[in-house]
Order: sequence, then C-alpha cells, then structure tokens
Amino acid sequence: MIELTDIVKTYQRGTQQLHILNRICFTVEKGDFVAIVGPSGSGKSTLMNTIGLLDVPNSGTYKLDGIDTINMSDNQLAELRNRKIGFIFQQFNLLPRLTAMENVELPMIYAGIPPKERRERGQAMLELLGMGTRGHHKPSELSGGQQQRVAIARALAIGPSLLLADEPTGALDSKTGEEVLELVQNLHRQGNTIVLITHDHHIAESASRVVSIRDGIIVNDERNLPMLAED
Ligand code: ADP
Ligand code: ADP
Repeated sequence: MIELTDIVKTYQRGTQQLHILNRICFTVEKGDFVAIVGPSGSGKSTLMNTIGLLDVPNSGTYKLDGIDTINMSDNQLAELRNRKIGFIFQQFNLLPRLTAMENVELPMIYAGIPPKERRERGQAMLELLGMGTRGHHKPSELSGGQQQRVAIARALAIGPSLLLADEPTGALDSKTGEEVLELVQNLHRQGNTIVLITHDHHIAESASRVVSIRDGIIVNDERNLPMLAED
C-alpha cells in the first residue's frame, strides 16, 4: 500500500547539509494502524509530509497503491494526494470562514465530486462523527473536540486509501483526546489504513504497530499484541 525505499531528505542550513531522513525504508500494509514515535526534531513530520506527498525527498522511491510517485509533477502529486490521502492535524486546520459542512466538502471539490453528492456525503460523514446537526456552524462556534471531529469527517470524505494524522489529540484535553482516539481506533477496525504521529505512549499502544524514529533513522519497528490494540 505504501512503500518507501532509501528515502533521503536533507535541508541546507548555512554551509551545513542536514540529513533529516537518512535512507528510510518503510512499508505499510493495507488496513494497518501505524504509530510513529520519536523525540522532537527526529524527522517524524518530515516523514509524514513525504508519505502525504507534501514534501519531495532528495532521493529514494515512494510507491503509493502501486503508483510510483517519484518524478511526478507538482500537479500530478496534488491530484494523487487529493484522491488518496486524508489528513488530520493537531490544530485541526479547518478554514475559519467556512462552515463545518463547507470544510468537509472542500476536498470533495478538489476531487471533482458534483455538488449534490458532496452534500449527501458531507452530511453522512458529519453524522458518522456525531456532528450531523452542526454542519452550519463555523469552527469558532465549536469546541476543540468537535472541530477535530469535523476535520476527521473532512479527511474521510473522499474515501481515502490512507489516513495521515499528526498529533491528532495534541491540542485536546485528555478526555476529548480519548474520544478522538476511540474514533481513530474505530476507523482502523473498519479497515482504514492509518499512519499517526504521536508523543503519547498510550496512543502508540493502541496502534497495531509502533515505528520509532531517531535522527532520521528508524530505530525500532514492532507490532503491538492484538490484546493491547483492542484495549
Ligand atoms: P513537531 O515536533 O510538533 O512536529 P514541528 O514539525 O513543527 O514540530 O517542528 C519540529 C522542529 O522543526 C522545530 O524545532 C522547528 O523549529 C523545526 N522546523 C519546522 N519547520 C521548519 C522550517 N521550515 N525551517 C526550519 N526549521 C523548521
Ligand atoms: P519531528 O516531527 O520529529 O519533530 P521534523 O520532521 O519536524 O521532526 O524535523 C526534523 C528536523 O528537520 C528538525 O531538526 C528541523 O529543524 C528540520 N527541518 C524541518 N523542516 C525544515 C525545513 N523546511 N528547513 C530546514 N530544516 C527543517
């Protein structure tokens, strides 16, 4: 489903060339739930941006659903991203001037889905996340947990092959974070493929696999016992 081979990402800082990702090899099978953990600055976000086709590596190969993404133009990358990947962010990243429903519709507009179907699917997604009656609200009228539910509805709206979440509970209080984590676990049970960055060990334990990254290198990669993952 995802296949990264020998991914190198460097940044130039003054005369220094920093290796942010150092020959990363990483595969994710369909239906897996992978937590990426590691200290701040270890390269987690850069890896996520690479998987999400937001960042292009300096070298290496990346196949998404069997499609070779290296050498694609920016337009081709954007098209593939809009069709295949749903993003969930720490700060929700909802557009403040749009209603919840309009936010959920946005990726469907990019994906070329006609208006009537957008509305129906948007409503269905909001209902799935327990936000069916809040579609007309602006983000500022919603709590953090509600905003993240809208953001998850938005991520799901295009029926993505892959859900990417960067600290999805990081901006939420622990009770609300727990609820959002349960939503993510349900999405996994329903067969969604999820890659999630977290600092939180409890969240990492709820994934089916934990990948530890340090200084741009994968230093550990192990499966959680199903018992723990079902918790
Ligand atoms: P997080 O660990 O929460 O994902 P960020 O990805 O926002 O944090 O940032 C991690 C580190 O990367 C921070 O030290 C930040 O200053 C640095 N950083 C992020 N983006 C850039 C950038 N464009 N240029 C330089 N440093 C950056
Ligand atoms: P993490 O998410 O694990 O905190 P990041 O992937 O955000 O780590 O960052 C890894 C390293 O890359 C950090 O040292 C950060 O400063 C650097 N970095 C990230 N983005 C940029 C950028 N655009 N330009 C320069 N350095 C960057």
